[in-house]
Amino acid sequence: MKRKKYRWGRIIVAISILLLVGFGVTFFTENLFCSSEGWNGFWGTVSSEMERSENELSVEPSKKESSEEPVLESSEESFEESSKESSVESSKQQEESKESSKTSSVSSKPPVSESAGLAGGTSASDWNLILVSAKHPLPDDFSVSLASVGNGHKGDKRVVSSLNAMIAGAKADGITLMVCSSYRTKERSAYLYQKQVDQWLKKGYSQEEAEKEAARWVAPPGTSEHHTGLAFDIVTPSYQKLNHGFANTAAAKWMKAHAHEYGFILRFPEDKQDITGITFEPWHFRYVGKENAKIIFEKGLCLEEYIEMIK
Ligand SMILES: [Zn+2]
Repeated sequence: MKRKKYRWGRIIVAISILLLVGFGVTFFTENLFCSSEGWNGFWGTVSSEMERSENELSVEPSKKESSEEPVLESSEESFEESSKESSVESSKQQEESKESSKTSSVSSKPPVSESAGLAGGTSASDWNLILVSAKHPLPDDFSVSLASVGNGHKGDKRVVSSLNAMIAGAKADGITLMVCSSYRTKERSAYLYQKQVDQWLKKGYSQEEAEKEAARWVAPPGTSEHHTGLAFDIVTPSYQKLNHGFANTAAAKWMKAHAHEYGFILRFPEDKQDITGITFEPWHFRYVGKENAKIIFEKGLCLEEYIEMIK
């Protein structure tokens, strides 16, 4: 009798340990790591987001991507996608025309003279200045040749060396950067967007309301800059959450101050939300080329304003 009780005690202790470990692992993987897409939180972002003000909204990671520092391959070693894989599928989205790419919401258009003196014959139609947003869906004929940027991530092969250089530059300053989201297919965007819509529907929103709310958090397929292979979400090992708190990290501060030296810009600044239509994303960096990035940085513009300026 005594031995039986003892055995039961051990079984109960063992089950308790298993439960604790299980919960711990779940919490760790769901909550700590930067997701490649980074939109859905541990408890489901919708409930918490609904309670926050618009400016406080944060984007929580949904799953573990990798805890390891990304090791970027050199562009020589990187592989080129087959044309089938690298070309982006046709979109049913409206066709982008020069006319539609004008940003009506740009509030202060700088004088024409300011656009003079741009180096290298910069043009708004340059490949590295492509504007992809809700108002400017990815053109139907868009395609990109991809190369690996390490850890399963890919980007436009023309920008991989610049990304490598930025990561190396940060490292020289004692900052570790890691890419947690990169090139994204329309299919992947469609999946993430639908997932977000479903969350709002579950909260009792109508289909129309749910789609509207979801679009504030996940770019609907065809409207994400990640389709271009020119955008990267970059975090640091000690802070991998995609929320506004990331802005306070040394990594975010370093990128904000130095990204332009490598041809990247902070794409969705805090003070440009009314123009970009996207909430502040201190982790999202977009390649535009060094010359463009320098001007955008020095003039404190967002991409929409810059394109309007050089037209
Ligand atoms: Zn992003």
